[in-house]
Amino acid sequence: SQKVMEVFENRESQVRSYSRSFPTVFNKAKGYKMWDTEGKEYIDFFAGAGALNYGHNNDRMKEKLIKYIQDDGISHSLDMGTTVRKEFLERFNEVILQPRNMDYKVMFPGPTGTNTVESALKIARKVTGRQNIVSFTNGFHGMTLGALSVTGNAYNRGGAGVPLNNTTSMPFDTFLEEDQSLTFLKKYLANASSGLDLPAAMILETVQGEGGINPASFKWLREVERLCRNYDIILIVDDVQAGCGRTGTFFSFEPAGIKPDIICLSKSIGGYGLPLALTLIKPEYDTFGPAEHNGTFRGNNMAILTATEALSYWETDEFAKSVQEKSKLITKRMETIVEDYPQLKATTRGRGFMQGIVCGEGKEDYADKICAKAFEKGLIIETSGPEGEVVKFLGSLIIDEKGIDQGFDILEEAIEEIVK
Ligand code: PMP
Repeated sequence: SQKVMEVFENRESQVRSYSRSFPTVFNKAKGYKMWDTEGKEYIDFFAGAGALNYGHNNDRMKEKLIKYIQDDGISHSLDMGTTVRKEFLERFNEVILQPRNMDYKVMFPGPTGTNTVESALKIARKVTGRQNIVSFTNGFHGMTLGALSVTGNAYNRGGAGVPLNNTTSMPFDTFLEEDQSLTFLKKYLANASSGLDLPAAMILETVQGEGGINPASFKWLREVERLCRNYDIILIVDDVQAGCGRTGTFFSFEPAGIKPDIICLSKSIGGYGLPLALTLIKPEYDTFGPAEHNGTFRGNNMAILTATEALSYWETDEFAKSVQEKSKLITKRMETIVEDYPQLKATTRGRGFMQGIVCGEGKEDYADKICAKAFEKGLIIETSGPEGEVVKFLGSLIIDEKGIDQGFDILEEAIEEIVK
């Protein structure tokens, strides 16, 4: 294994990060488990950074894929009409949009989360004729220049080399004390005429993932929506990480009762870990003409095929309920850790299958050490937050209670060793 790791060290760019955090060579994965070339088993509390909500090598999707390839189904066809695209659009409407009384056009903006964010920002600027975008502290929206310009963490900018223009960063709900962020926003918008441009859009995550598992309150989300309506600002919810059931409902904003103008989906929308992104657009804002936003890989039929299969999890509310039920166990296990290890000065936060243990002031380093130790013991879990201070649970939604307990047992053993 050490020899194989050398290939990464010697030949791959030093930008690589996960092969550093998880220093082994994996060759097999199923459900919520992964294995390395030495046959060591790992519980996966990371799930491809949230791209594997339905687990590794999901049987139902795998079966569909194998048959499709055997039958010479079309793998790549840009946005040409295919039976796979047709079926996906029909099923997405039937299973996701209609039951929620949501009328949105579906755009395939390119293969990644970053692509959907780019398309959303461009649409907002096009339909409003305004340039400025309001984003929020600690938000994460992607790595290309548009998405990067609304990403809050400076370290992600990697010396972008060009000015990231026309954006205004505002304090996120959890960044200030209760209601202060709203006061700030309201004052900012009320004074936009005196020199500050009104924004084309506001872009936010309902639970910030990379930013440290910061859940906005439902009240805050509703107030932000109201402000957007008052000033004709496009509300973009980036549900790339928090969507597809991760917080216990298909869209993360459902319990808040808001209706964003544009919704960004990626990561788990493809279902099998295949790259796919969607931009959902209220019909009145569906204004791009042909080729105004294109891309070679916006029509990966295999990803759309598995995405269609993934929708069957949402035909009844059974799956959502199981996610909500299991998330109580995650909360319980995290709260126990916080109580049992006061040395961490930790708190917990999050929603559903997106929860974190936040190591307190002066103890931020613990998170990294805990995750590294847990990895040695067979658990894949990563940190998040501006100081890497959060131990972040992001397991597959299909994990059962036994798997959750197994993972948390390992986590506790790791913490025990780190804090002693
Ligand atoms: N938005 C959010 C909320 C994300 O978490 C991410 C990825 N971590 C992105 C956008 C970017 O997605 P991708 O890495 O697929 O470009």
